[in-house]
Amino acid sequence: MSRTVEVEIPDLGDFDQVDVIEVLVAEGDTVEADQDLITLESDKASMGIGASEPGTVRELRVAEGDQVKAGDVIAILEVGAGAAEAQEKDAEQSNDAEGGQEGEPAATPPPTEQAATAQAKDASTTPGGSDAARPATVDLGDTSDADVVVDLMVLGSGPGGYAAAFRAADLGLSVAMVERSETLGGVCLNVGCIPSKALLHVAALIEDAHHFGAHGVRFSEPEIDLDALRSWKDDVVDQLVGGVGQLAKMREVQIVHGEGRFTAPHRLEVEAAEARTTIAFRQAVVAAGSRPIELPGLPADDERLIDSTGALELRDVPERLLVIGGGIIGLEMATVYHALGSKITIVELTGELMPGTDRDLVKPLETRLRGAYEDILLNTKVTAVEPITEGLKVTFEGESAPAPRVFDRVLSAVGRRPNGDRIGAEAAGLEVDARGFLRVDRQQRTSVAHIFAIGDIVGQPMLAHKATHEGHVAAEVAAGHRASFDARVIPSVAYTDPEVAWAGVTEREAKEAGRSLNKAVFPWRANGRSLAMGRSEGSTKLLFDADTGQLVGAGIVGVHAGDLIAETALAIEMGCDADDIGHTIHPHPTLSETVGMSAEMITGALTDLYLPQQRKAAKERKARQGG
Ligand code: NAD
Repeated sequence: MSRTVEVEIPDLGDFDQVDVIEVLVAEGDTVEADQDLITLESDKASMGIGASEPGTVRELRVAEGDQVKAGDVIAILEVGAGAAEAQEKDAEQSNDAEGGQEGEPAATPPPTEQAATAQAKDASTTPGGSDAARPATVDLGDTSDADVVVDLMVLGSGPGGYAAAFRAADLGLSVAMVERSETLGGVCLNVGCIPSKALLHVAALIEDAHHFGAHGVRFSEPEIDLDALRSWKDDVVDQLVGGVGQLAKMREVQIVHGEGRFTAPHRLEVEAAEARTTIAFRQAVVAAGSRPIELPGLPADDERLIDSTGALELRDVPERLLVIGGGIIGLEMATVYHALGSKITIVELTGELMPGTDRDLVKPLETRLRGAYEDILLNTKVTAVEPITEGLKVTFEGESAPAPRVFDRVLSAVGRRPNGDRIGAEAAGLEVDARGFLRVDRQQRTSVAHIFAIGDIVGQPMLAHKATHEGHVAAEVAAGHRASFDARVIPSVAYTDPEVAWAGVTEREAKEAGRSLNKAVFPWRANGRSLAMGRSEGSTKLLFDADTGQLVGAGIVGVHAGDLIAETALAIEMGCDADDIGHTIHPHPTLSETVGMSAEMITGALTDLYLPQQRKAAKERKARQGG
């Protein structure tokens, strides 16, 4: 029995009306499940609307140039067993019309060939980008000047670059990846996320051992063998970096070491000490990352002044360390050096640590740091750093700035800037803004249609996992797939002690936007596992949209907050409400229960705390029902 189904425009998020730019099928066509029937385009993105089930297009209700909105019916499909017969009938008719022979299998209609051609044209020529149905076929002309000719050149081998290169290779493109450093993996693997986490793990061990002295388990003071520690950290890095090299080899991704600069829209020149390589490419992904911001006026070549890379080299454990910048890098490095034995002072320009993060999440961290560190100077800036024999003499400015102080080392961690000014962007026709960022659309396409950009170089947040996700999108679009960056949230984590993690809307943002939320904050002192760990200072906050009831934001402070935030990111992506989360059975006894119980604070089902307002609401409800 066949039946008919209506194909509707789904919820379009931020858009009311969007344009139908292509109709990909005709009445009578057979379609597969998910096969696109039409393409929509707004000023931000393009998307295909697919068939919900396999069947035959009985009626088309839209034409190119129409505008549609969520809920509009665009086509009627005939589906089910009878539809197959109908399809056969259609095919027979069409074979008859074309002189087809009886008994020959029905020819698969070429429904999207014309559309595919149009989309391929988009992929190679349309700035701003629309979906591509297959990779751009660019005739590179004479490539006798080039040492390497590839479908895709990826500039940079960090978590964004190698993810793009490997995904593209897996999708059948020939790929070359260019890396300035001797090792692959970029800042994250070599001098960022990975070595810092290796050292932060050691810091946590030391702090835990120390902490349990008060609970009956006393260890002697740790002996730090700096050489052994450094070499362990380097081993961790080497393993990962070696792994990236092997993965590249297995995928036949060609690695070219040296400083890459565009010399033309389809050429990149790679300069190394002993060689110069010219790469001709059909498409490119710029994943050239960022570098630390250098504060002006600091001594240029005093090795006691370091940035995050210098801090991770672990040359020594300074007795007194000043950290300029109370952001994530500054606080993570302070955590490491404090555990190793340095006396830490933090100087932060604004009035808060980790500016922009919800205050209730930072407070437990700040309380702990104020108890442990020598000083935390807010609303204060460094005006001079003078090298003297005993150390670096630092002068401060600000309402409660102290008198000049001498430190053994000064770590500058005042943010990072994109490398857009270092890639020869003009020669490729790429527009770089005043701060060094490249602007991209949701398909990661720059203003030059065949060049994509991802990671730190396209904007905040400068996070490895964002770059990786963008790398996959860029590679997929370059390979002709319909992909776009449509993640609702990008979680952030400060791997401090305690960790601070958040995803989606923050309370601060909601307030600024006048958005009303239902909030629940579950205190970790009511969680058995955190008590058993002696770390009950944390809390888990969930923010639900007051109208839809869906989870839109989450923030967690406490040990392992960075691991716990992943569940909330998934819940936001899935559009979960408090019932969905509260009814999900969380294993006991774990810190993850704090997520479930926070949701139960909204549903009223929480039994692990006594909430007077919950009881009052229940009584009122009962009274209204006449109970
Ligand atoms: P940041 O922007 O997070 O913090 C820099 C801090 O320095 C800010 O608080 C700022 O107010 C302060 N500052 C700026 N100028 C100052 C001055 N003259 N004196 C005193 N303070 C000053 O930058 P960051 O910590 O350097 O990190 C850089 C980037 O790397 C960020 O985007 C960060 O998200 C990313 N990162 C992320 C992680 C992680 O996810 N765990 C780890 C490291 C870095």
